[in-house]
Amino acid sequence: MAGAGLQFRVPREKIPWNPTVDPEKCTGCKTCFSFCPHKTYTWNEATCKPVVSYPTNCVPGCSNCAAKCPQGAISFPPLAILKQYM
Ligand code: SF4
Ligand code: SF4
Repeated sequence: MAGAGLQFRVPREKIPWNPTVDPEKCTGCKTCFSFCPHKTYTWNEATCKPVVSYPTNCVPGCSNCAAKCPQGAISFPPLAILKQYM
């Protein structure tokens, strides 16, 4: 997985890396929720959209769920921001 194995000098909680879902683009296909092995997302049955409930579960540098999203609804910060935490 992208991001696996990167070493950081600060606790995970200090690293601003997690997915952001654009609700206007998201069609509720559930791919991201089903795919993420780190349980970053929960599912909102009422809105039929993913919720980034556990942002610090997301592995810094990983953006695999964004690549899987058929709507391009998931975004991440630029990878370059991670350098300052390494
Ligand atoms: S993969 Fe994309 S379109 Fe599907 S639920 Fe997640 S954000 Fe929405
Ligand atoms: S980027 Fe990777 S770890 Fe983070 S939410 Fe997506 S699949 Fe999970």
